Amino acid sequence: METEGVNSYSPAVRALVRPEVHRLPAYDPGADPEAVARDFHLPRVIKLSNNENPYGISPAAAAAIHRRLAKGMGRYPDPAGEALCTVLADRHCVERKRVLIGNGSENILELLCQAFINAGDTVVTQSPCFGLHEIFPLMMGARLHKVPLRADFRFDAPRWRAALDGPVKLVLVSHPCNPSGTVFSGDQLEYLIHHTPDSALLVVDEAYFEYARVDACYADALEALRHRSRPWLVLRTFSKAYGLAGLRVGYGIASHVNLIEALHRVRTPYNVNQLAQDAAIAALDDSAHLQKSARLVRGERTRITAALRDAGFRVAPSLANFLFIDTDGDALSIVRDLQRVGVIVKAWREPGYESYIRASLALPAENDAFLQALLRTRVGA
Ligand SMILES: *Cc1c(COP(=O)(O)O)cnc(C)c1O
Repeated sequence: METEGVNSYSPAVRALVRPEVHRLPAYDPGADPEAVARDFHLPRVIKLSNNENPYGISPAAAAAIHRRLAKGMGRYPDPAGEALCTVLADRHCVERKRVLIGNGSENILELLCQAFINAGDTVVTQSPCFGLHEIFPLMMGARLHKVPLRADFRFDAPRWRAALDGPVKLVLVSHPCNPSGTVFSGDQLEYLIHHTPDSALLVVDEAYFEYARVDACYADALEALRHRSRPWLVLRTFSKAYGLAGLRVGYGIASHVNLIEALHRVRTPYNVNQLAQDAAIAALDDSAHLQKSARLVRGERTRITAALRDAGFRVAPSLANFLFIDTDGDALSIVRDLQRVGVIVKAWREPGYESYIRASLALPAENDAFLQALLRTRVGA
């Protein structure tokens, strides 16, 4: 994560920018495939930097978009997202008013920071962590406490306990964790829930839920929290396993209707476009597409993890559609070497993880190209 200098701004503009914004780290979206193709004169680039679904949108969702386009797009979308929220509420057996959709689940992360975080509040998250779990709280002036994973990538119970022993406003974890792909066991999740003070909001971001849940030992956060009266919010998205990243739609389910009402107050009224709402409803019904995507990831995850470990790399045990790999070298320079041969992955910039890359799992041929390219960087070293 890089801190973009505002020192280059003209003094007049610099004085206008809030101090919290001055200090914000920049989100790293990874390299642009078109720029990489152009710079290195490559006919084809493999993008493994954003955990997208290589199968893309489900045909049923694409058909829903065509139907909506035929009806016309001149009107504003449904501001309440009534149809989609109703389907989601039914699926998850919760009241309709406890469901919120957003312009990606990132939008809901932003809204919840805007609605709940005061300057000086403590937010506890994990390290390594998803960039926006850090950026949005800092944007509001929060103090961030990051609890590191143990060196063996496991949950560090004593450190979590110490972090939660104090005035905490928000606990924010991704599960499976982005970037490590690791998960909490059922007991660890219970531990986290038990030790999070009732005065704090507990948010579990399950962006990769549909990939992880096929594993017998996956602890489903919604099920773990469903009957708890403490304030909680579970986030999920259509961007990953459902393959709708370009449409921007995610959702949250909360313990209390009032939590969702507070989020409605700070959102823009038409934050989820109509094509995204329609496509999401259709995608929920296309279980064949979802299963095909989950099956691909499961097989490739096992295969590529084993190949990397055979080659001597340390790889975190992932339940998501990406792998977190210790290159044992300078990740940034390895990522540049990979780009030269047309493979885009992310170098992890968080302190302590400078030797790590995160690579999405895609089609077998794409994963093989990544594997070969990575092994070659090692031979050359
Ligand atoms: C990808 C990702 C998201 C973003 O989801 P959108 O719904 O596309 O905004 C949220 N959280 C985590 C942890 C992610 O990895």
